[in-house]
Amino acid sequence: MQIFYDSDADQDIIKNKKVVIVGYGSQGHAHANNLKDSGGDVTVALRETSSSWSKAEAAGLNVSTVPEAVKDADMVMVLIPDELQSKTYASEINDNIKQGAVLAFAHGFNIHFEMIVPREDLDVIMIAPKGPGHTVRSQYESGAGVPCLLAIHKDVSGNARDIGLSYASAIGSGRAGIIETNFKDETETDLFGEQAVLCGGLTSLIQTGYDVLVENGYPPEMAYFECLHEVKLIVDLIYEGGLQNMRYSISNTAEYGDYVSGPKVINQDTKKVMESILERIQSGEFAKEFMDDCNESDNGKPGPLMKNYRDQASNHSIENVGHELRGMMPWIAKNKIVDKSKN
Ligand code: NAD
Ligand code: MG
Ligand code: MG
Repeated sequence: MQIFYDSDADQDIIKNKKVVIVGYGSQGHAHANNLKDSGGDVTVALRETSSSWSKAEAAGLNVSTVPEAVKDADMVMVLIPDELQSKTYASEINDNIKQGAVLAFAHGFNIHFEMIVPREDLDVIMIAPKGPGHTVRSQYESGAGVPCLLAIHKDVSGNARDIGLSYASAIGSGRAGIIETNFKDETETDLFGEQAVLCGGLTSLIQTGYDVLVENGYPPEMAYFECLHEVKLIVDLIYEGGLQNMRYSISNTAEYGDYVSGPKVINQDTKKVMESILERIQSGEFAKEFMDDCNESDNGKPGPLMKNYRDQASNHSIENVGHELRGMMPWIAKNKIVDKSKN
């Protein structure tokens, strides 16, 4: 597989374009600030009522409304929540974006499931960082980068790949690696990864482990340190050198327990469940369920199912215990990756 790096990209291509970033949330603030710091000409596009408006201005960025901003943009990167993109594209972008511009996404959801069918004259590309937006920013600032996927859906100009590489490099991904794929594979693997492993799998593993200890009479504080806090310490070792690097550092007792008990927790039945999760993603069933829930509410508010899940998760005792324990570890709050007053 070919992986591209900064040396394969020409950052001047993107520096000579007017780039509009729609949205200033997790990914939006990261792309906008990284591009600006790389010397790009960036405008952030938001609704006039948006609470993000003042945050983007405070970061020294130009801010405008979506219809106004996209009019003379050479490239428009859509970084608002997936569930709102098709409405905003239809009402504010499609009729205002200039002929021959580049329309870009950080996830293939709307193009792959055909919720957005872009105008024929536009290049349509994806630059999808493989990490949370706040990390895309913090890594860039520290001289590092988050790897990303690049995909070309429509190449009307004949330059779509060079433009995408240039953009990916300017947001810091060329330092870590840029992999070329297509919208279908990015969409399906991204949804699978976040559901089965990174977000869904991991949070359920942490919470269930915590519940077992607490229900068997151990103090919640001990359960929190054991099943949540230490995850980062272990993952740092895995991130640095792979699974065996982590196993080199833990005790032989821990390593032996890892081999005998891990496959009992994540067993052949779990694998079958993961396969059915993948099938539900591939068939579009998951996307439909998510969008149906979103469409039950208006103004971009969470749907009833989402609201219910969020409320339940927020009220779990692991969250309250964690809040108190983290308060005793001031170094965690210093240089926080997520600072809600700024991004
Ligand atoms: P987000 O929820 O953080 O975005 C919120 C921002 O969108 C806010 O600035 C809000 O004011 C703005 N916004 C909402 N509705 C708007 C509208 N109608 N017009 C203009 N602005 C509007 O979004 P996100 O999580 O950064 O996701 C953006 C895209 O990036 C999605 O396609 C997502 O799948 C993709 N992505 C996200 C992450 C991540 O780390 N969150 C990682 C990879 C890819
Ligand atoms: Mg995702
Ligand atoms: Mg992802």
